[in-house]
Amino acid sequence: MRLRNKSWAKPLIAAHPDMISITPKGMQGKWQEKFATEQPLMLEVGSGKGQFIIGMAQAYPERNFIALELQEVAIAYILRKQVELQLPNLHLILGDGADLSEYFAPEEVAGLFLNFSDPWPKTRHEKRRLTYKSFLAQYENIMQKGATLQFKTDNQGLFEYSLVSMNNYGMHYDLVSLDLHKDARVEGNIETEYEQKFSAKGGRIYELKARFSTAD
Ligand code: SAH
Repeated sequence: MRLRNKSWAKPLIAAHPDMISITPKGMQGKWQEKFATEQPLMLEVGSGKGQFIIGMAQAYPERNFIALELQEVAIAYILRKQVELQLPNLHLILGDGADLSEYFAPEEVAGLFLNFSDPWPKTRHEKRRLTYKSFLAQYENIMQKGATLQFKTDNQGLFEYSLVSMNNYGMHYDLVSLDLHKDARVEGNIETEYEQKFSAKGGRIYELKARFSTAD
């Protein structure tokens, strides 16, 4: 999902360094300083315009949330909402999920979300998928032992690929849902903007919750 450029995006970002960090260096182990209260830190990689992370931050005030986005315009949309809402448990990062180990200290993150990640269907682009093994290695590094990685997508190909990739990595599944919106096990699902649009047209949503192995 590529968003069209907006003239207000850059100035808005420049005006709010307290709310948004840009390709942060030297912040490893210090993210709690950005929040009103020290509490478990949840990270979403590829937040889009932020409907999910804002909904989560409102629903779970006892956790801190970071939205990470590669696209400046997308993160600017989130920032615009945050300027209005002033949520004490939300911070934004303009950066690349491929650099997570530069942004976060080992075990700094208590939960990680991937929502409707770009599918990159061509085999030659496999390394760009956010569930490719090099990304999993970064998630494992920054996540606390036993923490949950939650992934939602409408894309069957990416979902199947991710199941195999995580299985090959030795991860364990707590949930695999092939039709999230009809699944009685799932409660309190907060929809992303993409999810809302896609499911309104009758599309099926897949979800998995997984953990890295702690057996060593
Ligand atoms: N989660 C949103 C957006 C899904 S589109 C929703 O469900 O509606 C996927 C998003 O991931 C895009 O906004 C894209 O810019 C972002 N993205 C892709 N690769 C990324 C990366 N390496 N690091 C951070 N964000 C990334």
